[in-house]
Amino acid sequence: MENIVIIGGGFAGLTLAKRLARDKFNVHIIDRNNFHSFPPLFYQVASSGLTESNISFPFRLEIKKLRNVSYHMGHVKNIDTEGKTVTTSYESIPYDRLVIAAGSTNNYFGMKGLEETVYGIKTIGEAAHTRDEILDRLERGALCKDPERRRQLLSFLVVGGGPSGVEIAGAIGEMKKNILKREYPELKQEDVTVTLVEGAPRLLGAMSEKSSARALEYLKSLMVDVRLNTTMKGYEDKMVEFADGHKEYWETLIWTAGVKGEPMPGMPETTVGRGGRIIVDEYNRVKGLEESVLAIGDIALMQTEDYPAGHPQMAQPAIQQAENLARNLNAGEFKSAFKYHDKGSMATVGKHLAVADLPKVSFGGFFAWFIWLAIHLMSILGMRNKVVVLLNWIWNYTTTSTSLRLLLRPTRFPVRRHWGD
Ligand SMILES: Cc1cc2nc3c(=O)[nH]c(=O)nc-3n(C[C@H](O)[C@H](O)[C@H](O)COP(=O)(O)OP(=O)(O)OC[C@H]3O[C@@H](n4cnc5c(N)ncnc54)[C@H](O)[C@@H]3O)c2cc1C
Repeated sequence: MENIVIIGGGFAGLTLAKRLARDKFNVHIIDRNNFHSFPPLFYQVASSGLTESNISFPFRLEIKKLRNVSYHMGHVKNIDTEGKTVTTSYESIPYDRLVIAAGSTNNYFGMKGLEETVYGIKTIGEAAHTRDEILDRLERGALCKDPERRRQLLSFLVVGGGPSGVEIAGAIGEMKKNILKREYPELKQEDVTVTLVEGAPRLLGAMSEKSSARALEYLKSLMVDVRLNTTMKGYEDKMVEFADGHKEYWETLIWTAGVKGEPMPGMPETTVGRGGRIIVDEYNRVKGLEESVLAIGDIALMQTEDYPAGHPQMAQPAIQQAENLARNLNAGEFKSAFKYHDKGSMATVGKHLAVADLPKVSFGGFFAWFIWLAIHLMSILGMRNKVVVLLNWIWNYTTTSTSLRLLLRPTRFPVRRHWGD
């Protein structure tokens, strides 16, 4: 049996592991988390609509019936492509073939200090941290007697007008519009400001102009101040500097403006291309290491005529690349080149509004939101999770309330940056 090591159990890695022929391959999934999670709903964790466990599922439960698949917790520290070994925080695992499916991470475009000072929703941990920050600020704002300080505490800046930025700005706008009055009677709507800045002339740049215009209109209805053509250049001492030179004070900055490939220590420099992604051919084989290393999903840079800058870093390309690679590996030869079938894209703005671009039609409003709900519900792993998420949504929708605004403080010691370290 061939030994296949997969780094990352996200959409790409887990799909591949499940599809590889059980009688041909021993599969080892390495992931720093012991669960698979669902990034499209991270913004709902950050805005207290769902909890972390609602959209996460333990690997061990997911693979328990796959006797040829094992899970290894660990953070990848080194890949030795000559010795064919991956070293994690805990062990070294030899491979016959390595598949890198480690996804992407925040890209701060070289701006200093951002990693330590801004909030994010790129991982479930970041989303939970952002939620706690928002809740902490609402509580402190409710106690604050000085109106100017209260406004500072309750000013939220979202940087980036892609789907993640639009979704989290809309969710905070909805808290301002619908939750404050009921749950924070000490606060007035004008105490809270939600601002979204985007460098391009429109929101949701990868979607149609109609969807961009709709998203803008929906965000305005949720009292979000949207500033287009506004590029952030730096953030120091809580002052945000913009490209036109002006500076503004913000204590809470939520970064959604860029991603890059997850760094993979040990991979030769020649294999890393634009956006820190790993360069692959049309079969997802890594440049120069075609015989033994492959990359799929967000981290893979496959430049084709249709996608000269690589495929969009979204769930569908990741899943489809995994399915195609499984077909080739199971067949024992690389005969099926990858071709992306774009099924469309969606983004939701607030409780019952969304925009959708499907291959032949673009639409928005309640219907788009309903379709968005159905698709996301189907894609979450675990029947229990699906039921809990559905119940949460029905409850939130009918009562505009949630019992999830809990500010749980972790104990301080012992210090560990993350599990698997
Ligand atoms: C907030 C947010 C919202 C999104 N919304 C949408 C959406 O609505 N629709 C859509 O299509 N796409 C959306 N995306 C993008 C989508 O989630 C990604 O394109 C998709 O997850 C890529 O799949 P992947 O398997 O390549 O990587 P991932 O799903 O990111 O999986 C990577 C895995 O690798 C693990 N890993 C990473 N580095 C290491 C390491 N060094 N050692 C060990 N393990 C490691 C991680 O823990 C993770 O489990 C969203 C992303 C985010 C962040």
